[in-house]
Amino acid sequence: MMDVKKIREDFPIFNVKPHGKRLVYLDNAATTQKPESVIKAMEEYYEKMNANVYRSPHYLSVLSTEAYEKARDKVKKFVNAKSEESIIFTRNTTESINFIAYTWGMKHIKEGDEIVLTIAEHHSNILPWQMVAEAKGAKLKYVYLDENFRLSMKDFEEKMSDRVKLVAVQHMSNVLGIINPVEEITQIAHKYGAKVLVDGAQSVPHMKVDLKKINCDFFAFSGHKMLGPMGIGVLYIKEDLLDEVPPFLRGGEMIDEVYEEYSTFAPPPLKFEAGTPNVEGAYVLISAIDYLERIGLENIYEHEAKLLEYGLEKINALEYVKTYGPMDSKDRGGIISFNVEGVHPHDVATILDEEGIAVRSGHHCCQPLMRYLGVPATVRASFYLYNDFDDIDALVEALKKVRKWFK
Ligand code: PMP
Repeated sequence: MMDVKKIREDFPIFNVKPHGKRLVYLDNAATTQKPESVIKAMEEYYEKMNANVYRSPHYLSVLSTEAYEKARDKVKKFVNAKSEESIIFTRNTTESINFIAYTWGMKHIKEGDEIVLTIAEHHSNILPWQMVAEAKGAKLKYVYLDENFRLSMKDFEEKMSDRVKLVAVQHMSNVLGIINPVEEITQIAHKYGAKVLVDGAQSVPHMKVDLKKINCDFFAFSGHKMLGPMGIGVLYIKEDLLDEVPPFLRGGEMIDEVYEEYSTFAPPPLKFEAGTPNVEGAYVLISAIDYLERIGLENIYEHEAKLLEYGLEKINALEYVKTYGPMDSKDRGGIISFNVEGVHPHDVATILDEEGIAVRSGHHCCQPLMRYLGVPATVRASFYLYNDFDDIDALVEALKKVRKWFK
């Protein structure tokens, strides 16, 4: 079992007392807090090994290159990818998805082709495909939800045809918390010859992800949502597609030979990483993964499932609060989106802040989903390994105050 009290002691941020109150941090879908070991690793990088990678034979450069490649190996094992060449460091999920849109997408998607998305996608997994569709004359098709707010697999199968070249789907929704059956989606998409991109921004931090099992073609996630630093993200490209994907940015570090008129590229993954990379970010990500593995992703998932179940029960018991998402907590991450009757979500979030409770309010970068749900915005509470039942009790008590103020 997880000792949350002990875990909280590893996170210095909990010494901060917002408005003199205990910090109740429920904005983990936006970004997560960092344990001491991760903060220390940042210092350690600059104190002991800072240098540019690959370029020089000197002592420090060898150390930083080793650190960077160790990070790649760590990530590979963490998501159970087959080879290190498939792991490309980017800035974040958004850049990883744009990477594939601008490279593979612009090369392989043609006029009349179709791209299948889900209505719950984050803008980061919509706008890049709108760009490709507009440039190439391709069409976007959306898969909608069933009556229980889960992805309708019936609708998905109906949207699939030989015209579909790509299915771009989130693993876990940052609004509804639903976990999509990406393994099954990939199997079906591959039958039609379509490639599959999975947005793993919300899944990788909270559950064991096995890329060999999922078998998707592209996978994206962000370090900052999994206890790591901002500015480091990951793009996975399946081994057999590494030659089919052209470089994204061009310049230093990614070349083999450069002539006056043309150049040849280094083998992957270097061909995909132009310019000086975020070596510090990659190195610190090792510590974040170490921390998550020490606690255990299965334990984290189970812990959040308990918080979700408790939270849903408590919040749904308030008759003036409406929650969005499946009624059950099965195959669902620790995210609860809700609205308080007659109160704007931003006002709810502002009052919660006065109680030391950090939540997000707004459209959560999911405007098509908001429109589909028929609401302009929601309040969102999202959990992580350092949250406990007290945090949920504090949220519920604060919601009662919101009701009192506005009634
Ligand atoms: N996809 C999903 C499902 C997300 O929740 C987020 C972050 N809110 C993103 C993509 C974008 O992540 P980033 O801002 O780190 O690029």
